[in-house]
Amino acid sequence: MPIYNKPFETMPRKELGALQLKRLQATIERIYASVPFYRTSFTKAGITPQDIKSLADLQRLPFTTKLDLRDNYPYDMFAVPMEDVVRIHASSGTTGKPTVVGYTQNDINTWAELMARSFSAAGATRFDILHNAFGYGLFTGGVGAHYGAEKLGMAVIPVSGGNTKRQITIMQDFKPTILCGTPSYILHLSEVAEEMGVDFKDLHFKAGIFGAEPWTENMRTEIESKLHLKAIDIYGLSEVMGPGVSIECHEEQKGLHVFEDHFMVEIIDPETLEVLPPGETGELVFTSLTKEAFPVIRYRTKDITSLNPAPCSCGRTHIRMNKPSGRSDDMLIIRGVNVFPSQIESVLMETREISPHYQLVVDRKNNLDTLTVKVEIDEKSFSDDIKSLQAMETRISNNIKEHHGVSARVMLVEPKTIERSQGKAVRVIDNRKF
Ligand SMILES: [Zn+2]
Repeated sequence: MPIYNKPFETMPRKELGALQLKRLQATIERIYASVPFYRTSFTKAGITPQDIKSLADLQRLPFTTKLDLRDNYPYDMFAVPMEDVVRIHASSGTTGKPTVVGYTQNDINTWAELMARSFSAAGATRFDILHNAFGYGLFTGGVGAHYGAEKLGMAVIPVSGGNTKRQITIMQDFKPTILCGTPSYILHLSEVAEEMGVDFKDLHFKAGIFGAEPWTENMRTEIESKLHLKAIDIYGLSEVMGPGVSIECHEEQKGLHVFEDHFMVEIIDPETLEVLPPGETGELVFTSLTKEAFPVIRYRTKDITSLNPAPCSCGRTHIRMNKPSGRSDDMLIIRGVNVFPSQIESVLMETREISPHYQLVVDRKNNLDTLTVKVEIDEKSFSDDIKSLQAMETRISNNIKEHHGVSARVMLVEPKTIERSQGKAVRVIDNRKF
């Protein structure tokens, strides 16, 4: 399969390191001069741009957090004057103000290139048609995928999220071959298709690029078997760029290649902030190397994963990050036990009789945390036999306890009673007051 930008994507590691250092030094020099936040934080750490002499010196730089971005709302982190900014996006803040990010024309061109590389890594070519069900708007998913697909030469159907029945009709009539969206919305799409009597086998998809929320290997198996396509994981966040920071190759589907000519990646221990060696699990941290309008230095993503430096059969030399297992701020602590929603999802997906739609409800009763796992029963296994349903609830609850050490009450609910997402799924409802 062709690699979109072979010289950069297969660059020997030594050469790549030299390129990274040159780009890192230029970035540090630029933001030291143009962003008061960075100049102040570097000065506090006793660092000037001249101190960055090797890639190891990156570790001397202070971290940047979402809170820093919020404190500089909306434009104070921008490193160029407003007349050079051609696009603004904002991340959906669940609490407080959103995070605002900007792009110059060069930034947009880079982003389009990295998304074109991503589509190519998923096996797409200019002969493909993209059904883009990522939301268009302030969210970076829709527009980000759109520009990259056009750059690769694909025909883009900018359908966005929602209006699901119409999407199925478009799939039948326009014959798209590549699908984009959040995994939870894609599952909803497949459910609506089933209701309409449409089998994905009769549609024309060969691959799908899914992301913007963590999803498990079991969810991948489910999507691949229901939609009859190869499901590829994509990663990105607006603070770092948007989708296309890293992507799985369709050859291996095992870890996402980080586009290291544009981003440096580290894994840190979120408690001690120490950089961890490859293979160890911790928080993912990114530094941008080419961004003009909104450079980020050691940005703490809160996403939990590990890095895999092993060579890949696809020929790309860029390091792979494993599929994020969750976000450190999504982590639930139930009576002192740490558990990620994705870990519960894994157990649920191993149970044949239930559907992949679930919600975790956390409450505090008499000062004790309780976790209720609401999960829909499969249409086919739905019965009025209360006894067998109760037995199934107990079995799933035991499995969760056995695998992850957390006590959960499992509640089977009727098919299609958990609200479907049009974008990112709401997996956790935490009613505890802190
Ligand atoms: Zn690969």
